[in-house]
Amino acid sequence: MAQLYPFTDPVAARTHGPTVMMSGEGCCVTDTDGHTYLDAVSGLWCASLGFSNDRLIAAAEGQMRQLPYYHSFMGRSAQPTEQLAAKMASLLPGDLNHVFFGCSGSEAVDTAAKLVRYYWNARGRPNKKRIIARDAAYHGSGIISASLTGMSYCHDGFDLPDVAVLRTGRPSYLHDAKPGETERAFSCRRARELEALIEQAGADTIGAFIGEPVIGSGGVLPPPDGYWEEIQAVLARHDILLIADEIITGFGRTGAWFASEKYGLKPDLMTMAKQLTGAYFPLSALAISDRVHDAIAAGAHDLGTFGHGFTYGGHPVGCAVALEAIAIYEEMDLPAVVMDRSRMLEAALEPLKSNPAVADVRLAGLMAGVELHDKKITAQTLREAETRGVLLRQIGATLAISPPLIVSDEEIAQIVSVLSDSLANAT
Ligand code: PLP
Repeated sequence: MAQLYPFTDPVAARTHGPTVMMSGEGCCVTDTDGHTYLDAVSGLWCASLGFSNDRLIAAAEGQMRQLPYYHSFMGRSAQPTEQLAAKMASLLPGDLNHVFFGCSGSEAVDTAAKLVRYYWNARGRPNKKRIIARDAAYHGSGIISASLTGMSYCHDGFDLPDVAVLRTGRPSYLHDAKPGETERAFSCRRARELEALIEQAGADTIGAFIGEPVIGSGGVLPPPDGYWEEIQAVLARHDILLIADEIITGFGRTGAWFASEKYGLKPDLMTMAKQLTGAYFPLSALAISDRVHDAIAAGAHDLGTFGHGFTYGGHPVGCAVALEAIAIYEEMDLPAVVMDRSRMLEAALEPLKSNPAVADVRLAGLMAGVELHDKKITAQTLREAETRGVLLRQIGATLAISPPLIVSDEEIAQIVSVLSDSLANAT
């Protein structure tokens, strides 16, 4: 095998080889053996407009012909990069009026973590370096972003250096609530635990808290009632920045332009990728509030330069694709369409709730998780569904569903009926 496959058991990869995709049409992909699959997880939660959008392809081609590359270093930039920054500043909530571009989500998270340090140094509080992250969070595979990630398999074997991460509990009501505890009481307890952690470590050593508004790769965990309100009250009391990792949720996935709007987060920094270009080009962005930006700019001026950037960050082809994706989202009235699809998916999943094999059905817009009691049955259901032509994703005992945002009524019905049949066959 010439490729070292990400998040794959290399021995299994050698034995079975990968399913190699060759072409895409709408929400479907076809492999080299001619099997067509309805991709109910949009690749990796990202192919929001499916796999054959002519407008995105034309935007990429047009920009390739016009100017295939330019950077944003040392006082230069490219037209679509400037346009996209301005467009995003107009769309982003609150005072997130500044944007830094990278290529991957991990780069956006690593940048956010570095900016936390830069910001507090510029503010004359160099001890505020630690970042609090949660169990079951996924924030990427860079050195800092992997350290922030709460899954042990992202740490095992790597001996990651100590980058001053503190960890707090995941917002899983199903698994972590005490008997008789309401969702609200559970959220308050999580906030009290956070505050105890901060007080124990010393608020003057903690720069930021990072969280996905809805946890994705950790099992599709929408926040329990009152969660973000309680967490943010603690952060405000201790002057701790909030980083919203919207790499999955940004641009419509939860039925709002940004999940921060839906769940009442007021972040100082916000990471985005995936839906930003519908995955037709690797591009990520970090949105920065006025307060953080102004302190960083002042600090950079004192130091002579802002010493951080990526050769391909803000790539003009990616930015042209993102501008077109946003234009499509605006024309289709993205939040309304996603909420409509979400209600349809929720209704279709409803009967599964009474299936004895099912522990929980969770949903936030077009992110859904069907958790089973037995992980082995989850794995078996996943395989069954694949043989029946529907691609799902296994996260522990949970099957994740996150179809392209253009998914049709018929496709939603097909996803859920294949899932139900596969489950019936697996149990
Ligand atoms: N943050 C979240 C919430 C993610 O879901 C991901 C990827 O799935 C990342 C960060 C890392 O993004 P990338 O794989 O583009 O580096």
